[in-house]
Amino acid sequence: MKSKIIRHEFVDLIPDIVEEGVLYISIPYATATHKCPCGCGEIVVTPIKPTDWEIIWNGKTISINPSIGNWSIPCQSHYWIEENKIIWLRKWDYSEIKTGRVKDKIAKARHYRKSGGWFSWMK
Ligand SMILES: [Zn+2]
Repeated sequence: MKSKIIRHEFVDLIPDIVEEGVLYISIPYATATHKCPCGCGEIVVTPIKPTDWEIIWNGKTISINPSIGNWSIPCQSHYWIEENKIIWLRKWDYSEIKTGRVKDKIAKARHYRKSGGWFSWMK
């Protein structure tokens, strides 16, 4: 069964047993972990970093940006977590995954170039 709601829990350490329908957020480890909401049982880890995902906590609900595309696990599900709701997106086809990866690389390169630029300016 595909779930539509995920509740969040702030934890120091991600527990050994990841419950379905719970998004565990570890601030000390800057990581969020949840079981794939499609029901396949795979555990999805999203690092919280400027170049990966960001978490928006409004005091009540959690949103994660950008969307989560699980193309490395068999179900290949793709969804947004917005205000604790799972918003299903269509699966990416191979070329989109490739483009997504390329875009990701560009974003990362830009980010690091920016910080590199900052440090050279500091010198
Ligand atoms: Zn799945």
